[in-house]
Amino acid sequence: MLGLMQDWPLLCHKIIDSAARQHGNREIVSRSVEGPIVRTTYRDLRQRALKVAQKLEREGYALGDRIATMAWNSARHLEAWFGIMGMGGVYHTLNPRLFPEQIAWIMNHAEDRAVFVDLTFLPLVEKLAPAVKSLKKVIVLTDAAHMPQTSLANAVPYEEWLAEADGDFAWKTFDENTAAGMCYTSGTTGNPKGVLYSHRSNVIHAMMAAMPDAMGISSRDVILPVVPMFHANAWGLGQSAPMIGAKLVMPGGKMDGASIYELLDTEKVTFTAAVPTVWLMLLQYLEETGKPLTYLKKVVIGGSACPRAMTKKFQDNYDVEVIHAWGMTEMSPLGSLCTMKPEYAGLTGDARLDIQQKQGYAPFGVEMKVTDDNDNELPWDGKTFGRLKVRGPAVAKAYYGGAGKDQFDEEGWFDTGDVAHIDPNGYMQITDRAKDVIKSGGEWISTIDLENLAVGHPDIAEAAVIGVSHPKWDERPLLVVVRKPGREPSREDILAYMEGKVAKWWMPDDVAFVPEIPHTATGKIQKTALREQFRDYRLPTA
Ligand code: ADP
Repeated sequence: MLGLMQDWPLLCHKIIDSAARQHGNREIVSRSVEGPIVRTTYRDLRQRALKVAQKLEREGYALGDRIATMAWNSARHLEAWFGIMGMGGVYHTLNPRLFPEQIAWIMNHAEDRAVFVDLTFLPLVEKLAPAVKSLKKVIVLTDAAHMPQTSLANAVPYEEWLAEADGDFAWKTFDENTAAGMCYTSGTTGNPKGVLYSHRSNVIHAMMAAMPDAMGISSRDVILPVVPMFHANAWGLGQSAPMIGAKLVMPGGKMDGASIYELLDTEKVTFTAAVPTVWLMLLQYLEETGKPLTYLKKVVIGGSACPRAMTKKFQDNYDVEVIHAWGMTEMSPLGSLCTMKPEYAGLTGDARLDIQQKQGYAPFGVEMKVTDDNDNELPWDGKTFGRLKVRGPAVAKAYYGGAGKDQFDEEGWFDTGDVAHIDPNGYMQITDRAKDVIKSGGEWISTIDLENLAVGHPDIAEAAVIGVSHPKWDERPLLVVVRKPGREPSREDILAYMEGKVAKWWMPDDVAFVPEIPHTATGKIQKTALREQFRDYRLPTA
């Protein structure tokens, strides 16, 4: 017997319809690429999204067409998303920080037919376009007055292009499992792999992300997604924020400490999210200027492990709650968030920080387990670590084009490639990426734990740990350090600081000082590049 409830497909344009109707005057504030701060509302954004959909349809784009975006977070980028989805197209976010050859590879693989591009990236698209055969149109997210000379014959300024539509358009309806969005993983090894979100998965993920024990956002929040829309959907905020009707503040291309601070302060931001490197810049700026964080209540930190010292600083010095989160492009992307269950809610000080170093627990909609290499499930004892596997309605079941088949099993579990343990209360902690973990004498050493510890040293700005080959132990940890400006900690200072805080055999065999640590296009430490850089390094213990 079937239920007798309405068949109301979970389609993304329902989100913007609801935002416009219930929260029509709520603002979306963007730092534009042209310079000034510009303001719009959900009502206007929906109207412009309808025009995007209408224009695309008139120009012959149809259900299932991949339409790329290469843009910073802005209202224009968001209305392009909703317009593309609302006519049945698939928004495909491109990460402009990738190598041009890699972007061209991705665009060809996805067969993108058009691209919405910020002024900043027009030169990049000029370079790529000849290599992307499917690309028929370039819509430059600006107006005619700011439109530069371009070698692209098929480039138009967005505002003039949009002005040719009147917005008299009805959203298309289709099955909720229809593709809505696309994002490729960075592919630190091998080719990037395409993740294809559906309307249903986006809507479910947006609801999941907003729940009180997940991000816990509401219409009373002012949300600043510093995490780019091209980095795994801005962690769902592009859909969660309109779903709950929160004011949105979009940072454009400026993510330095001063620029982010300006928005936090002038727009009275209460909630923000980004990778640790962004917060490193903000905290440094705050320390230098002595400025307070007057309005900010919560910051979500993920993408790579949030160092304990960062959590402590936000909470103790600025009274901002840190939510450590873990996720992957393949998971839309949220997988777990470290909010406090009653079992931990009373903890304070170091005991609370101990829990907050964990990546948290899976909200409803994500199932997780850890297994050994033979797929036997391991106990949730907070120490036995193994391969982290997940499944759920907003988790990929395959990659676009069928790559990476071996990461998915028949029961729907996706092997994340992360190594983790889960405690008896369900809190998961990543100990490493499977390919970064250091194998010393047959035992595993967590590079993340060592990095977290090292950056707690007051003179260290950033730290990375890699395995360096060792004749006896196979691999031993090397700590690579960027010193804070004007500070000169020695190898011995640093090792003495770490001594006694980790198992003796985990202690790094050496410390190397570098001016800079390389990062990936999504702001993670690029371990492959570091390992290459230190390939011939001889440890003093070797
Ligand atoms: P990319 O690999 O393209 O940068 P993702 O953003 O999807 O794309 O990366 C997901 C990976 O990032 C995870 O598998 C995990 O290794 C790492 N990661 C994400 N959040 C955290 C976190 N809080 N702590 C440690 N690692 C994290």
